[in-house]
Order: sequence, then structure tokens, then C-alpha cells
Amino acid sequence: MSFTETGRPPKDGFERDLVEVAALNLPKATPTLLNSLNKAALSQKPEETLLDLDLDELTTLIKELGQPTFRAKQVWGWLYQNFADAYAEMNNLPNSLLEKLSAQVPLAPLEVVTEKVAYDGQTRKALFRLSGGAEIETVLMLYADRATVCVSTQAGCAMACSFCATGQLGLTRNLQPGEIVQQVLHFERFLSRTTDPRLTLGHKRITNLVFMGMGEPLANYLNLWKAIRRFHDPQSLNLGARKMTVSTVGLPQMIRRFAQEDLPINLAISLHAANDTLRGSMMPINHRFPIAMLLEACREYISRTNRRLSFEYTLVREVNDSPAAARELAMLLRGMLCHVNLIPMNPVPGSSQQGSDLSRVRAFQAELERFGIPNSVRSEKGRDIQAACGQLKVEYNLS
Ligand code: SAH
Repeated sequence: MSFTETGRPPKDGFERDLVEVAALNLPKATPTLLNSLNKAALSQKPEETLLDLDLDELTTLIKELGQPTFRAKQVWGWLYQNFADAYAEMNNLPNSLLEKLSAQVPLAPLEVVTEKVAYDGQTRKALFRLSGGAEIETVLMLYADRATVCVSTQAGCAMACSFCATGQLGLTRNLQPGEIVQQVLHFERFLSRTTDPRLTLGHKRITNLVFMGMGEPLANYLNLWKAIRRFHDPQSLNLGARKMTVSTVGLPQMIRRFAQEDLPINLAISLHAANDTLRGSMMPINHRFPIAMLLEACREYISRTNRRLSFEYTLVREVNDSPAAARELAMLLRGMLCHVNLIPMNPVPGSSQQGSDLSRVRAFQAELERFGIPNSVRSEKGRDIQAACGQLKVEYNLS
């Protein structure tokens, strides 16, 4: 076995892949807008909180504190059935235990900086400040048949896609598992405690999650999965695996790893172009992982899981939305167990690019259909509050 300069054996397999994706930092589309707060956040490792722990870890901690294990279940119920956001609410637990717990693993809700509601009343966007000062956004979308939260997995994003507002920010840091969980608990609390059905469309619980907020979920793989398991756990939120969708720019080694996980979480790949020249101009990650490498991992994913893969295709006017581009896409995906999700580009401040109009969207769809590629157009919510796909961007003060 050879050793690195640090004297440690070289990393291999999944561990090496994790290091590689953590180091990905693509050229920014525009100068990074980090303010001093966020620079501070970069160097900071957040302390562990109660919501970072799963039930086994909490049970171990409670045993170490000399308490019976049923206390862990009680705390758990407060968090995931009552959506408590302070130890003080847990009134059937001894104060001495609560004090010890809060000293070891604090419980503080994410600080809500602002919360906006769209004109249609069906989309809410919360801006949260994390410990250390970094900020993230999370969106609740209400439909007649479902209540979906769009979750962020990183503060900012390193992927720098040309049409995405978050990509202009650069990466501040990965979110901790508890910070991912908290975004969802915030909206669970809202739905469970709001009695006016005009604000909730009658929903009492969140039914679906999409990991399509700020950040690249598969570049924060371990924390993402810790949060997913929590959402899925019947003793926590009990969300079915098929009710959750992770969206990625397409990191091949992480897609392969995703295929080996035991939960059948939906996976969506941001493709946006069917040739390397065009995709590279829209998504810098394509220079590292070109389409052929990406599709090889996608094919492996499908053959291993036998699950349908989604491909997202953001339609940018006069860039990737011609009938010829649709044919190229159809040729690329022909024969694959997949579905194409078309998203007319949402406007992004500072970008001259625009979304395709309805006639171009329909013409693109018609071509896909001619070649038998299943597709749909994603209905967008919350454009008026910058809550739609690709619009999440914390407005930094550069003072
Ligand atoms: N990093 C992940 C999740 C990001 S957002 C990923 O890239 O998949 C989810 C989807 O919104 C992605 O497909 C992303 O490319 C798309 N998107 C980004 N900016 C957009 C915009 N301005 N209009 C429409 N879709 C956009």
C-alpha cells in the first residue's frame, strides 16, 4: 500500500469521490457576492444541534446522561409530532434533563429573516439565517392534492450554471443535516398550527419534498442522506421515498452511489442540452463530466434500480429551445426509461437570457413526442416572489 505525504493511506472508492465532489468549485458566472458575514461563515464549522441527531444517536446520548431510553422517544415526539422549536415546550420531561441536553445539543429554530407569500397565496418563501450568518431560502408550494417543500442543501452553490441565480453566489458552505431538517419542520409547524384554510389550502402536513433549492445536493451527499432518512423514518415525518425527489447537475460517481441506496428516492438530472458544446456553455460542470460520462452513470442507475429517471431541461429562448435541439435530445435519450421535465427559464436578475414562449415550448414538446419521449412542462409557482426554479438568491448587502 502506498502512502500520501500526510502518512495516511490514499482514499479510495466512495471516500475519494466525496473528497472530489467537495472540492468542486467552478468558475463563477459573475463576481462572488460574499459579504463579510458569509466569509465568516465559510471558515466556521457549526456546532452540533439536537436536530443533527437521529433517534439512535439521541438514545445513546440520553443513556450517557443516565436517563431511561423512553425519554429519547418523548423528545422525539416533541420534535417530529408536535414540531416543538424549544426545549421549554417539552413539559413532560424533567428540567434537569432538558438543561443537560440543551448544554450538549442546543435546539434553536432557524432564524427567519423574512417570509414572503406569492399573489396566488399558494407559494411561500422563507429566508433563513444560519448560525455563523450564512443565509438560505426554502419554498412551500401548495397544490390541491399536495403540499411540497423545495429544500436547500447548501448555502450558495459552486456549480455556476449560467441561467441560475444561486449559481451567481458561489458556495458558502454545506448545510448540516439538522439545517436541512429544520427547513421542513418550519413549514410542518406552519401547516399544523394554521387554522385558516385560505393560507394552507386545507393541508395539515407536508406531502412531498424536492431537493431543488439552493445548492447541489449530491455535493453534500452524507448530510443529504442523513436528512432523507430522517424524513422517511416512520417515527419522524414518515414521508414515502417516492414522495421525495433529488435534483442534481449530474455527478456520475454520486449517481452510482445513489443507485445503491436502500430507499427508492426519485432522481432528476439537470441536462438542459444534448451536446457538450451547448451544455458546457450553460453548465461549467459539463467540462468535468461530459454528457457521455453522465449518461453512462444514468444508464447504470436505471439498470440497477429499474426506476424511471427524470431529466430536467430548462428552456432558454433561442439558446436550447429549437426543434433541432429537441430532436438531438430525443436521439440522446431514445430507449431510456426516462421522463423529460421541461422548465421554461424563469427570469433571473442580471441575466439577459429569457424563458421560451409557449409556442416554442409546444413545438419542442411536439418533437419529443414524435420520437416517443415522455415529457411534461413544469408548472411554476411563485415567480412574483422570486421563489420559482433557479430564482433563489439571497440579496446580500455589500455595505
Ligand atoms: N443543483 C441541483 C438543484 C438545483 S435547482 C440541480 O442543478 O439540479 C433545480 C432545477 O432548476 C435544476 O434543474 C436547475 O437547472 C433548474 N433551474 C435553475 N435555474 C433556473 C431558471 N432560471 N429557470 C428555470 N429552471 C432553472
